[in-house]
Amino acid sequence: MGKYIIACVESDVELLDELYNKISRIVDSDYIVESYISAEQALIGCYNYIISKNEILITIVGNNTSTIKPEKFITELYKNSPNTKNIVFEDIVDVKSLSSIINDASLYQVLPRRLNKIDFELIILEAIKLNAQERRLKDYQRVLESAVEKRTRELNDINVKLEILATTDSLTGVNNRRSFYESTSPMIRYNRRENKSLAVLMMDIDKFKMINDIYGHAVGDDIIKLVAQKIQDILRASDIFGRLGGEEFAAVLPNTSQRGALKVAENIRKEIETLDYLTTKEEKVHFTISVGVAILEGTDPDLDAILHKADLALYDAKRKGRNKVILHEAKTK
Ligand code: GH3
Ligand code: MG
Ligand code: MG
Repeated sequence: MGKYIIACVESDVELLDELYNKISRIVDSDYIVESYISAEQALIGCYNYIISKNEILITIVGNNTSTIKPEKFITELYKNSPNTKNIVFEDIVDVKSLSSIINDASLYQVLPRRLNKIDFELIILEAIKLNAQERRLKDYQRVLESAVEKRTRELNDINVKLEILATTDSLTGVNNRRSFYESTSPMIRYNRRENKSLAVLMMDIDKFKMINDIYGHAVGDDIIKLVAQKIQDILRASDIFGRLGGEEFAAVLPNTSQRGALKVAENIRKEIETLDYLTTKEEKVHFTISVGVAILEGTDPDLDAILHKADLALYDAKRKGRNKVILHEAKTK
């Protein structure tokens, strides 16, 4: 912690002594009272104190032996120490020097040279008090600013988390239903307008109720996670994948032909068929998935239409014995 400097500049050594004695009597060891007969020395002295992290609290400026004028000393010091309370003796300032101090620096008080005419100690104590108040206010502001900054950071983090929460399915980490719809709807519109090929897969784990019934809900949850992870791994980065609910998933595959879509769907079906889940009791759980595939056609008005087609194909896959990929065939015209 630095010290608080009270710098007295006065060529009259008797007055300088008087200043030193009066001030020394009222301050404690946190304060250093410095006496300079030259403003030039005072400036150098003050700079050194500032460099070594001390604070110039008060200057009391009278005549001095150097060529540096009182107003020059104060305005120069102000550049590096704007909070200093500057006190000048009335006989050394005229209107010009006063305006310079007031306009280019700051002036705390103008005092008569005869200290016994005034309550000098009280004036110094008040300057110290004022400075301390300003310092506390600044500290408080700093604390407040950093608290506000911290809170802003926290709120940003919370917003990012909320955004993730709102768009991802908490069990699997993939898109939730809402996010899936939001991401795919514009893609469907664009591909439809541009006449580009696009495929939709609807996937549902087979006989999942039985898995829950036999092994418990926690195992069921784990299998949902495993299946979501597997499908996500197989799909391309440009595909959009989501969990629509329960053990049901959907994917939109842009730039994908019917042949390509069937290949991806078959790949998913096969990969999941080969997955095994090991329970804590070392039981192997086997599970399969059925996939319905639909291709975007000019007659599909929106996402729901093509999802519906994929859903019909999925239903067909279930009906035909499950663990199957079925393509929704366009009705013959
Ligand atoms: P199908 O082959 O016809 O699809 O038969 P299924 O048993 O898979 O279909 P059904 O729709 O009858 O049952 C789905 C089950 O999935 C019922 C429900 O309890 C369960 N389920 C839904 N959401 C979750 C979940 O988040 N976790 C777990 N463990 N089970 C879920
Ligand atoms: Mg099912
Ligand atoms: Mg289902």
